[in-house]
Amino acid sequence: MNEFALIEQFFKSQPITRSDVIVGIGDDAACLRVPTGMELLVSTDTLVSGVHFLPNCDAYDIAYKAVMVNISDMAAMGADPCWLTLALTLPETSETWLASFARGLADAMKPFAVNLVGGDTTRGPLSVTITIMGLAPEGQSVKRNAAKPGDVIFVSGQLGAAALALRFVGKEATLPDAHRKELMEALLHPYPRVDLQDLLRAYATAAIDISDGLTADLQHICKASGVGACLDQDKIPMHPLLFHYAEEKASELALSGGDDYELCFTISPDKIDSFMSNLQKRALTCYPVGIIERESGLRIRNPEGTCLSLQPAGYQHF
Ligand code: ADP
Ligand code: MG
Repeated sequence: MNEFALIEQFFKSQPITRSDVIVGIGDDAACLRVPTGMELLVSTDTLVSGVHFLPNCDAYDIAYKAVMVNISDMAAMGADPCWLTLALTLPETSETWLASFARGLADAMKPFAVNLVGGDTTRGPLSVTITIMGLAPEGQSVKRNAAKPGDVIFVSGQLGAAALALRFVGKEATLPDAHRKELMEALLHPYPRVDLQDLLRAYATAAIDISDGLTADLQHICKASGVGACLDQDKIPMHPLLFHYAEEKASELALSGGDDYELCFTISPDKIDSFMSNLQKRALTCYPVGIIERESGLRIRNPEGTCLSLQPAGYQHF
């Protein structure tokens, strides 16, 4: 199968459902309409075979996760995901592999009304790069750099399931069905938090998605904002299976395990009540886990009330 037939069959065939796509796949560049009053947010994430997924990983899961981690970056900016491009490097062209990959792409994009509008296809070691573009009302996208001392730090959900799942890759059969399903779902099919963007825009001083681990990602907010933070050990929402399978490491997995794709954000104390009542109206739960402080660095308050300094830990490529 040649490059152009492949693009035609698996990528150009993906549905264009958005009226703001003036030109999608097939020209030298996609042409997209950005409405007046909106700003354009752009982000890229690469998944590399042997680093982000095992070489024998299902093509469907690779595509699905590549889309979701990119959508998560838009969620963390308070932006609505709209369009994406795909740079795909393949060692060979297997039609079954590509068909499964294309299904994963389509299934991941559909619930968010995101359209594939371009890309590049090359031969080489398997790697998937997606660039996502999204929109937010002008001046309202949420950055990392405006957290203030006294702000309350929130996370949007339980942490640690993906990191726990990673420990069972290759040994899935040792898990009871229900646990295996729940853990592998967390690792392979993360669901980005696109239900909070408008609340982040209205309330958050800073936000980030938890891809590398809570401490590593919170540290990015702290550095960008010129502040520090103290977490409350007792308040970290831990996935219940952590206690079941990794009791001694539960806290470590929740604090520094990556791949959860929940959001971490900060809100000024005078806005907390209003934020909480909005969450309640939507039947959503977010967890206050600590406070932004003037003193730089990360600390954690243990259940006895003692503050200990915390080394941010998370995945780093170099
Ligand atoms: P160019 O020669 O301009 O780089 P290509 O021949 O690489 O164009 O691609 C032809 C068209 O197909 C372009 O519109 C490009 O965006 C699109 N395309 C190529 N590969 C992919 C892919 N993997 N996914 C989506 N679109 C792709
Ligand atoms: Mg090209």
